[in-house]
Amino acid sequence: MPDIIRLLPDSVANQIAAGEVVQRPASAVKELLENAIDAKADLIRLIIKDAGKTLIQVIDNGTGMSETDARMSFERHATSKIRSADDLFSITTKGFRGEALASIAAIAQVEMKTRMPAQELGTLLRVEGGEVKTQEVCSSQPGTSIAVKNLFFNVPARRNFLKSEAVEFRHIVDEFERVAIAHPEVGFQLHHNDVEVFNLHKATLRQRIVSLFGNPYNTRLAPLEESTNILVLGGFIGKPEFAKRTRGEQFFFLNKRFIKNSYLHHAVQSAYSELLPKDSFPSYFIFLEVDPHTIDVNIHPTKTEVKFEDERSIYALLRSSVKKSLGQNNISPSLDFDQEMGIEIPNRPKGDFAIQPEIRVDKTFNPFKSEKQTTDIPKQDYLKNMDWDKNYSRHAYNQLELLRQEEESKGLESSDEQQTLNTTWDPESENGPGQKPYQLHNRYILAHTKSGFVIIDQQGAHERVLYERFLETIKEKKNLSQKKLFPESVELSQGDMVCIQALMPDLNALGFEIDLFGTNTIAIHAVPVEMMDLDSSGILQSLIEEYKNHQSEFRLDQSDSIARTMARKAAIKSGKPLSEAEMNMLVDQLFACSMPYATPDGKPSVITFGLDELNRRFKK
Ligand code: ADP
Ligand code: MG
Repeated sequence: MPDIIRLLPDSVANQIAAGEVVQRPASAVKELLENAIDAKADLIRLIIKDAGKTLIQVIDNGTGMSETDARMSFERHATSKIRSADDLFSITTKGFRGEALASIAAIAQVEMKTRMPAQELGTLLRVEGGEVKTQEVCSSQPGTSIAVKNLFFNVPARRNFLKSEAVEFRHIVDEFERVAIAHPEVGFQLHHNDVEVFNLHKATLRQRIVSLFGNPYNTRLAPLEESTNILVLGGFIGKPEFAKRTRGEQFFFLNKRFIKNSYLHHAVQSAYSELLPKDSFPSYFIFLEVDPHTIDVNIHPTKTEVKFEDERSIYALLRSSVKKSLGQNNISPSLDFDQEMGIEIPNRPKGDFAIQPEIRVDKTFNPFKSEKQTTDIPKQDYLKNMDWDKNYSRHAYNQLELLRQEEESKGLESSDEQQTLNTTWDPESENGPGQKPYQLHNRYILAHTKSGFVIIDQQGAHERVLYERFLETIKEKKNLSQKKLFPESVELSQGDMVCIQALMPDLNALGFEIDLFGTNTIAIHAVPVEMMDLDSSGILQSLIEEYKNHQSEFRLDQSDSIARTMARKAAIKSGKPLSEAEMNMLVDQLFACSMPYATPDGKPSVITFGLDELNRRFKK
């Protein structure tokens, strides 16, 4: 048999390797911005077209490259930043792996113009799919301009995998923000489709943060300062009264490199613990400086994950410094921030349980031809207007009926089968005298079934009801919205504005009416009826937070994710006393759901008990 192992051609190897470094346009943006920083530029312009799918261009006024270096820079593992393995542990530059340009050039059409300030002429280089097409002398500004066109042009699968423009641009803004905060001493501009998004002048860190996230930040920041022999800490933390329900602005920079680290995040979050209600997040912009020998930045191709030699001490120091800063800035834990921020628990007027009776018509409904089923069910007062045969407990009831018929015809006595029957909701049984639902500890509803009882988790059940309703509303666009007396305006960061835009079509379908004002304000004119008494801006912020934190999952099915988040926020909460009518309503609505037995998050919403079980336990 002939030998079959071949060395891959460079072009293929580069394409494969590129997959690690360049996942999406934002990855290329990050690498190019970092190269410009490493080249000591103090003005960096980023020009984007079509969220980076058509063009990503970075123009800097840094050191530029010689003709040979310009050519070399596109070789894999070609770098000017380290020389030996030892250097890996004294890295002070952003790059060092020497693979970014090679990777980008392998999957795009790249045009580089570069000139060293001391030279009169520069170099123009065109590389396409990893192959140098032309190299010539040209006149150019000092510094380097790299234009990356048609990213993934030769990897259609990757190109198709890209998300919507809004999502991809959001990723680009994220990367831009990270570099811009890490380097306030550098001016940055960002243009998208010829519109200026940011023009950031050289500034202090505080000014930089304010120009990225808006004026209100000026009063929201408390400085963080600490210097020990293993760690120097600087930057700002957000005052707790401005904590958000969206995770929002949380940044760690290690030796001026943006990093992600959930362990350190925990240190900060826990320092705030007594000051913040659950589910709210402080902003922070924290700079950590450590001896490069005590960290390893080379554990991941994108270099955002870093290993510390002594993570525990850093955790402890960070936590105590944040606490100290909170203390020094007279932020006392005794303040009632819950009150002040109106966080969480939506305020409904007492006794107002805004569920409207509704008619849900299931067009695929097959009534199994049982006359009895539709005629025998007495209508209750509070449900007078409901059309029972179309509406009532369609799945559960039908299943019950089907099983019943099956059982009769087969004469089944199997206890398994019996169990299934017993656990099925039986609407008939609830109407007898003394068979009212009962609320346990303001959390659970106890209700009769024909052959036992069910315990329903009121919050989970309502989440299920709302989730299915919202989902249907979005899909069918038959929303019922409620105009607000006064539009509510909400200030958002630039980044959050991008998120809202991505969410907008589904929000409109759901019944929101939202206007964008300028670059960082939205006005809410109307909300879905189910939410009229809730804190709509809070709910939108939670939604943005979900969107940001779980972007990939969220995008998989955006309508589903929105319905889920909204349902979670708008559902009645555990602890709310419910009237009998409210309980009946909820129970009915739950069993009219297509999947009544679980919350949208997959937890049980109903637990069923058969009389059999009770009899057995009482040894009857
Ligand atoms: P790395 O940054 O890891 O060294 P890159 O592939 O990003 O690898 O870049 C390769 C080399 O090209 C760099 O080491 C640097 O010498 C040079 N280079 C890249 N971009 C620029 C730039 N904007 N200005 C000057 N030199 C650059
Ligand atoms: Mg680089």
